[in-house]
Amino acid sequence: MPEVLLSARGLTKRFGGLAAVNDVSVDLWRNHIHAVIGPNGAGKSTLTNLLSGDLPPTSGTIQLGTQDVTGWTPEKISRQGLGRSYQKTNIFLPFTVWDNVRLAAQSRTPHPLRWLSNATDFIAINARTERAIELSGLKDRVKSIAGNTSHGEQRQLEIAMTLATEPQVLLLDEPLAGMGMAEAERMVALLQRLKADHGILLVEHDMDAVFTLADQLTVMVDGRVIASGAPADVRADANVQAAYLGEH
Ligand code: ADP
Ligand code: MG
Repeated sequence: MPEVLLSARGLTKRFGGLAAVNDVSVDLWRNHIHAVIGPNGAGKSTLTNLLSGDLPPTSGTIQLGTQDVTGWTPEKISRQGLGRSYQKTNIFLPFTVWDNVRLAAQSRTPHPLRWLSNATDFIAINARTERAIELSGLKDRVKSIAGNTSHGEQRQLEIAMTLATEPQVLLLDEPLAGMGMAEAERMVALLQRLKADHGILLVEHDMDAVFTLADQLTVMVDGRVIASGAPADVRADANVQAAYLGEH
């Protein structure tokens, strides 16, 4: 049996009268990509925000590893091993790729503001930075100014910054958004590499990427899960065809 890294049960998030996420349960396993698809407004991003702690759930529970992390802050959940990328907002555009990733790696040390005073921390931070850059495929861009890199490379950089915190679980909300074909192919290859060591929640509109990558597929409509299971089974589901995939 694959190792369950995250297990959410009965998650609901209400905004006034709207249940943006309505009684959703989801599991993430190591070495698995769990894709979540659904039309705009289905509640996919809200679900991501609940799992990361950016939004508190109205009800339901989230177990991360051996901990019940329901109601924890995003910082505490991150330290417990969950990483998510925030679209671009975290990148310092005037800094190099290396410095951006190193800052993210540094945020994980016990003494982030005194790191130069501790040689062990210094070595560990540089090692984490190097590993994250290598894994994300940015090795030949380390010295580039982030603002001068392509859209696709900036998305890789966001993932490198997330990897620098050494998460077990990754939440990725539309990592292929706005990418051309070559960039999308590079990102798909990166996600395949990341799967080897992580449990991944992938929210994505690109169906080719979803069906290439997903081990488990969940379809949300109006805040609810209408189908979940092996991608081929979900694709063949008549409700899913009618509600979503049939439109494409
Ligand atoms: P998706 O990512 O699937 O497109 P979202 O999770 O962004 O969907 O949104 C689900 C629903 O919740 C939408 O109707 C959206 O307008 C609403 N919503 C999302 N965030 C908020 C918020 N902070 N306040 C009020 N309504 C929100
Ligand atoms: Mg969204």
